[in-house]
Amino acid sequence: MAGLDITIIPCLTDNYAYLLRSKDLCAVVDPPEAAPIVAALEGATLTHILNTHHHWDHSGGNRELKEAYGAEVIGPEKDRSRIPGIDHGVDQEHGWQFGGFKVGVLEVPGHTRGAIAYVIDNAVFTGDTLFVMGCGRLFEGTPAEMVASLAKFAALPDDTAVYCGHEYTLTNARFAQTLEPGNEALAARYNDVVAARAAFKPTVPSTIRLEKATNPFLRTGSAEIRAAIGMAHGDDAAVFAEIRRRKDNF
Ligand code: ZN
Ligand code: FE
Repeated sequence: MAGLDITIIPCLTDNYAYLLRSKDLCAVVDPPEAAPIVAALEGATLTHILNTHHHWDHSGGNRELKEAYGAEVIGPEKDRSRIPGIDHGVDQEHGWQFGGFKVGVLEVPGHTRGAIAYVIDNAVFTGDTLFVMGCGRLFEGTPAEMVASLAKFAALPDDTAVYCGHEYTLTNARFAQTLEPGNEALAARYNDVVAARAAFKPTVPSTIRLEKATNPFLRTGSAEIRAAIGMAHGDDAAVFAEIRRRKDNF
């Protein structure tokens, strides 16, 4: 469906919130704070606040924005009790709908128990579950859960645009190169990312196609990665866990 306009709003030091606008709606995804959202609205009225998970750097702006605009707060039903000001809980089975847009909900536990992603149009808002060339830390989930969650992203159409919660891309790309120096798509992308960041440009959106080609956490089957970590025969969850452990210490 045409007509959804997406604006990237840098917040805090490295967070991204996103403003979604169409004729009938004006929504923000994951507002850590109110001020940059208010500025980006340029006088428009916020109608909805969508949260991917409860962490304060994704929901810290909820109450102030809700109070200022009367916006409806949407978040994971499974994590209702931790989403500030929540009005409507959503789950994967039922999805959701607003302003004529069908919203797919993916339940993606791993970073947090209740983490979800929103699929709207040909875009996915991944919060801290999938990053550009990375993934979130496992604060509340197991490697097996995260592998299953990441597989839901990999199953989206290749040209789906990926909007994630943080600008961690340069570090992620450097780490990815330590595991897969022979991956040409990764080498090319690394150069693109360095150039973008040198120009202070965001590295979002990515695409599912690019992530499948370069994100080590989606590439647990890669022979080069498995050789690099000495795990030719481990299952995907074990390989994922080892990559995650190395990234945590990178
Ligand atoms: Zn988080
Ligand atoms: Fe975060």
